[in-house]
Amino acid sequence: MSDIILRVQGLNKSFGENHVLKDASLALTRGELKVLIGPSGGGKSTLLQCMNFLITPDTGRFWLDGEEVHATDRKSLYAYRQKVGMIFQDFNLFDHLTAMENVRIALVKVRHMSKREATDRAMAELERVGLAGRAGLYPAQLSGGQKQRVSIARALAMDPEVLLLDEPTSALDPELIGEVLAVIRDLAQGGMTMVMATHQITFSSQLADEFIFMQQGAIIEQGSPRELLGRGATTRTQEFCSKIN
Ligand code: ADP
Ligand code: MG
Repeated sequence: MSDIILRVQGLNKSFGENHVLKDASLALTRGELKVLIGPSGGGKSTLLQCMNFLITPDTGRFWLDGEEVHATDRKSLYAYRQKVGMIFQDFNLFDHLTAMENVRIALVKVRHMSKREATDRAMAELERVGLAGRAGLYPAQLSGGQKQRVSIARALAMDPEVLLLDEPTSALDPELIGEVLAVIRDLAQGGMTMVMATHQITFSSQLADEFIFMQQGAIIEQGSPRELLGRGATTRTQEFCSKIN
């Protein structure tokens, strides 16, 4: 069996005249962390959203576990979405639900678990992100870091095979970034397959299997942190990272 869990090939997306994703392809190996970096407007969010079909690409093919995914086939799309979870910069929690209910809701509505089973599972996921003691609080009562950890717990509750993270710490005050990065580190070390857009270069270079540098909608460079950022590297990635760090 191939170790490639998710392959996307030839993704293109235009918004009107603006060609924002130019023939992007990537293959994710089971258990790896790929980190998307590059200037704002470079297409990172568009790529991640296409990979979850939140945006429909103009062209592109997808294979999950070796099976081609057809976005026009609702059943296939539905199954795909459950296996490829997404974490957003601004958390996307339901304000009128508690932390536990935010994690539980899809287990009941999508997975058709009993309320009791779903509650147990939601609590286990909150515990995993260090929030068991906050289960009954509403998003407004949580810090940004806690909200992001709830959103990670919610994604994990669906047992995803792949997690896509779009700048998960960009909306956080600096002192709250570490607690979210710690959860992401645990996931990476536990073998979760992930693609994460971030500006956290130091953190990422310790954990990423591969950096992907995107600019103006195109993948410009990809390689290991050592190849792209190692001593003496003269890459576009290195040039970009030296500017933001
Ligand atoms: P990044 O995440 O790297 O900052 P984005 O993927 O958000 O980049 O944006 C890439 C380009 O696509 C930008 O020029 C942005 O203005 C444009 N864009 C993104 N989303 C939309 C949209 N929904 N409608 C029109 N243009 C968009
Ligand atoms: Mg973005």
